[in-house]
Amino acid sequence: MSTNTQLAEKYRNNFLKEVEEQVEMGDWVKMCMQCGVCSGSCPLNFQSAWDHPPQELFMMIRAGKREEVLTSSSMWNCTSCYNCTVRCPRKLPITLIMHGIAEYAHRLGLAPKMQATRFFSGLFWNNCTTTGRVNELKLSMGLYFKDGFVQGVKNGLVMKNVALGLMKARRLNPFELFGGHKCKDQKGIHAMLKKARDIENTRKVAKVAA
Ligand code: SF4
Ligand code: SF4
Repeated sequence: MSTNTQLAEKYRNNFLKEVEEQVEMGDWVKMCMQCGVCSGSCPLNFQSAWDHPPQELFMMIRAGKREEVLTSSSMWNCTSCYNCTVRCPRKLPITLIMHGIAEYAHRLGLAPKMQATRFFSGLFWNNCTTTGRVNELKLSMGLYFKDGFVQGVKNGLVMKNVALGLMKARRLNPFELFGGHKCKDQKGIHAMLKKARDIENTRKVAKVAA
């Protein structure tokens, strides 16, 4: 049985409890009094890509709209500007709750696969943890070719003047594509990340089983 099915069964009809117990900072959601200050302060509200601002997401959690919340792209669109957090009269750590819900959706395999911010987070993480240093060229290429080869070439052509300018200013080295700079102790970085991942996985498994 998948972790998602297991948890959906466990918390049947009580999505709020699931969020409180499984989502980082999720136990704050019940404190929301639906004043709407967060949504009114959010620079992304009223944008077409922004399905549900924080206030609405919190209301949906209480209403048990599990699938709608966890498959939403809203949490992924959050820019972490912290406007909502500093203005919430109940002092909810809204930005962190948004990140917590996004991480939970990702963990359950429900997050929208090709949502741009989610895609970029994965790309950035894999890029910087491979060698311990970010390879900007590979990172940009990965983003340009996200929607296939043809689109990648088109994106590259649109950005060619910027790339040439960066090369002239010696801020971009095309040979970085074949390796690039690395940190001195790559093995040490990998060992540290593995240890952190093991600790986190053990904590998550214990939470699911509890
Ligand atoms: S500002 Fe705080 S209390 Fe008001 S709706 Fe947003 S989260 Fe809820
Ligand atoms: S931190 Fe995220 S949810 Fe909060 S106001 Fe900024 S963009 Fe909106």
